[in-house]
Amino acid sequence: MALSPCSVDKARYRGPAHHVYPAILVGVETQRTHHRLCVEHLDEMLTWLDAHLDRVELQQDFTQPVEQKCLACEQPIGFDRAAVFVTAYPLQDERIDFFGVSCTSALCLKSVRKALSL
Ligand SMILES: [Zn+2]
Ligand SMILES: [Zn+2]
Repeated sequence: MALSPCSVDKARYRGPAHHVYPAILVGVETQRTHHRLCVEHLDEMLTWLDAHLDRVELQQDFTQPVEQKCLACEQPIGFDRAAVFVTAYPLQDERIDFFGVSCTSALCLKSVRKALSL
């Protein structure tokens, strides 16, 4: 099996690559990237995602009001917001979609970008 470097620590590792695609949408600007992660950094990323974002279920009932709080500072969000989408492929045929919103303060955007290595 080919050795591929992990996007987070640049260390080469053995084993399958785990792909994570984070994107952040601020106003009309979208920033997206693609990480190949070793299993250790995948676990770290999934733990952070589960703590801060919601898993999007295909069967989700969108008529339910969703509580809109900044995923970074946990303050209620107004009209000015950034949308954060992350698709993770922990295993070959498993896909998890995450969604969250963040306020557009420089501090919150910075911490979101840092956590996602965006
Ligand atoms: Zn790694
Ligand atoms: Zn915030």
